[in-house]
Amino acid sequence: MSNPSLLILPGDGIGPEVMAEVRKIIDWFGAKRDLVFDVSEDLVGGAAYDAHGTPLTDATMARAQAVDAVLLGAVGGPKYDALDFSVKPERGLLRLRKEMDLFANLRPAQCFDALADFSSLKKDIVAGLDIMIVRELTSGVYFGEPRGIFTEGNERVGINTQRYTESEIARVARSAFELARKRGNKVCSMEKANVMESGILWREVVQKIHDDEYPDVELSHMYADAGAMQLTRWPKQFDVIVTDNLFGDLLSDLAAMLTGSLGMLPSASLGLPMANGRPKALYEPVHGSAPDIAGKALANPIACILSFAMALRYSFDLGTEADRLEAAVQKVLADGLRTADLMGPEGGSPVSTGAMGDAVVAALDASLN
Ligand code: NAD
Repeated sequence: MSNPSLLILPGDGIGPEVMAEVRKIIDWFGAKRDLVFDVSEDLVGGAAYDAHGTPLTDATMARAQAVDAVLLGAVGGPKYDALDFSVKPERGLLRLRKEMDLFANLRPAQCFDALADFSSLKKDIVAGLDIMIVRELTSGVYFGEPRGIFTEGNERVGINTQRYTESEIARVARSAFELARKRGNKVCSMEKANVMESGILWREVVQKIHDDEYPDVELSHMYADAGAMQLTRWPKQFDVIVTDNLFGDLLSDLAAMLTGSLGMLPSASLGLPMANGRPKALYEPVHGSAPDIAGKALANPIACILSFAMALRYSFDLGTEADRLEAAVQKVLADGLRTADLMGPEGGSPVSTGAMGDAVVAALDASLN
């Protein structure tokens, strides 16, 4: 059987810096665990624009469609702010998401014990937290027609339309149930079925997919506003939350910030299964290109490293190795290593991007003893 394939798109700003640390981790898995990936690398965003005049070439798009998983750093930066909208760096990322039809956006909120003091919530509420928000990404009110600003009588009216088909709901529900089976086996579906017809349909379809295909997974339903309240009251009651594009946008930001710094947050966007059974997948840190710290070795590589851990778990079914990598990150933090973004008000001596990556590799080594 051929090796699993990975396309790496480091992008702009701190993207290449954090990706260099992920390369160390990928090399470690090849050398020490006999898990060899066929890795190729290409340009995206401003870097692709500089080289080719477009933020994503057709050739790169074709490579992304052909691999088992794509790992992206970040795109954008002030240098590109004045560019025409059609060639802005972000358009490269949006094209990838659209053409790969990545409809399920996975945003974990995981609290590493060593960073529990970083949360705005009390330590016992967040310590050990590990939840996953699955947000529908390609439909709903951000895409529904009609939309626009129209004139009615003597005033203007702004219109957006919340629209979901049964099949759009069904496929993201399946993604959530599949994920739950690899985690705590619980899904909570959130909508506003009390006031929205799209919410009523959402609830019915999620329930039917559950009853027909995933009766072994525990399913509950919650109104999204109550869900927001419960997320701050006692987030550990949740395992997987599945919700629509708009509510998911809000709830995933809320959940993510329960746990602290932007430099710690990974994400995945998944599509339909390919011929080999693996879902189309793009993994990326939640943060952007951080132009304010780019080139200074200050970036925290953990969000990007944890994005690779998600790839191990969700694209390659290597849950044990994903656990190993997450435990290595946990250990490094517990040992007190911090990049500058993780320094508390009391200060201390931060380590560089490279030193953090090296420490994770050393912790991986230690995990073999
Ligand atoms: P940002 O996420 O790049 O940075 C916000 C703040 O967080 C900055 O102070 C930055 O230094 C800090 N930060 C971010 N990641 C960090 C890390 N790994 N380690 C330490 N500190 C980190 O968001 P922004 O400043 O609003 O945007 C900068 C550029 O990135 C813009 O061009 C924006 O369009 C782009 N952007 C891209 C993506 C993406 O590629 N997915 C996402 C968001 C923003």
